[in-house]
Amino acid sequence: MADKITMSPNGELTVPDEPIIPFIQGDGTGVDIWPAAKLVLDAAAAKHGRRVEWKEVLAGQRAYDETGEWLPQETVETFREYLIGIKGPLTTPVGGGIRSLNVALRQVLDLYVCLRPVRWFKGVPSPVRHPEKVDMVIFRENTEDVYAGMEVAEGTPEAKRLIAWLHDEMGWDIRPDSGVGIKPVSATGSKRLVRAALDYALRRGRRSVTLVHKGNIQKFTEGAFRAWGYDVVREEYPDRAVSWEDCGGDPGDRILVKDTIADIFLQQVLTRPDEFDVIATTNLNGDYASDALAAQVGGIGIAPGGNINYVTGHGIFEATHGTAPKYAGQDKVNPGSVLLSGVLMYEHLGWQAAADDIVSALEATIAERIVTYDFARLMEGATEVKTSEFASAIVDRL
Ligand code: NAP
Repeated sequence: MADKITMSPNGELTVPDEPIIPFIQGDGTGVDIWPAAKLVLDAAAAKHGRRVEWKEVLAGQRAYDETGEWLPQETVETFREYLIGIKGPLTTPVGGGIRSLNVALRQVLDLYVCLRPVRWFKGVPSPVRHPEKVDMVIFRENTEDVYAGMEVAEGTPEAKRLIAWLHDEMGWDIRPDSGVGIKPVSATGSKRLVRAALDYALRRGRRSVTLVHKGNIQKFTEGAFRAWGYDVVREEYPDRAVSWEDCGGDPGDRILVKDTIADIFLQQVLTRPDEFDVIATTNLNGDYASDALAAQVGGIGIAPGGNINYVTGHGIFEATHGTAPKYAGQDKVNPGSVLLSGVLMYEHLGWQAAADDIVSALEATIAERIVTYDFARLMEGATEVKTSEFASAIVDRL
């Protein structure tokens, strides 16, 4: 019988064989990609004697049309109650109080990790010569930094007051025609993010964790993130992880923790991608790095993502692209992003064999050059298929 996923007292998810999982189909192309992804996810679960009871909840344009709210409270409460969910892309309301539904969901459930694995799938067209060397998992801090939404617009009374206060109290001169934003980076936020990255690296047998920061310039935010990261390693993981400085680059069987400055990181992931494994970084750096890395493996249209709070057990997995409204309802676009987000979700639930089967079947399909339009236009001799046909082809190869 279908049941809820729960959090056990030791901080592990308890997953029944038939978990109830809430989903948001998503706006625009959500109508095409969600059913395709579901077809594959269901088939892979069934192969391993499991079944997901999908529970639909609303958000975005469809929620607004049916309930007058972009993010109904019922949706938030359902995600809160069932812990793990998945979503397609959502239309961002223009004007009104909500900046982004995705950001709102992350904040309400305090989903402090944005998890973005980046690896190449055999056959996917890529702009680099050795995409197979890219296999990284990015842990991006998801709740603070310049994304905290603390900004005042140029010329407003608030901006004038803030600029005057900073002048009088701190001696800082800011041009009067400036907008001003605040970048909070806390020990709490940084440490829990680094802990999540280390735990993942240990659980998954990864070799290293790299702290990516801009601490050479922003010493008390980005630099502090780096320092707090190393504090966690030394104080909480002395037997399981070690910093480069403390081991001279030879960690033995411990996880090696190193750090790099964000701009150099973006060079090195192109020139020496195989030196990077798990990445832990602040919010804005993580935003840039996730998409830059996804592009290297040709995966910008198929990149998966998850937003997770490892303490409460909450997680929402999501397509990382938008609603692509011009293609909505055409059964045309690539369902890879939401499907691989489902794979990430299965891995998170401990359904590794089902997750691995989907990846193998996806690779087999692409290797036969059976692809949707976005890959077909970059590949020679490809057979272009519809969204639903691509999903069926994957199921055939499961
Ligand atoms: P978008 O929907 O991501 O589409 C941009 C382009 O990306 C598309 O024109 C298409 O490229 C490609 N693309 C997107 N999804 C694809 C798929 N499944 N398969 C293959 N190619 C795909 O970005 P947008 O047009 O800027 O935004 C549209 C709406 O989505 C906005 O309301 C935005 O706020 C929202 N949005 C939501 C999320 C989210 O929910 N996570 C994220 C970003 C944006 P080609 O034209 O080259 O074929």
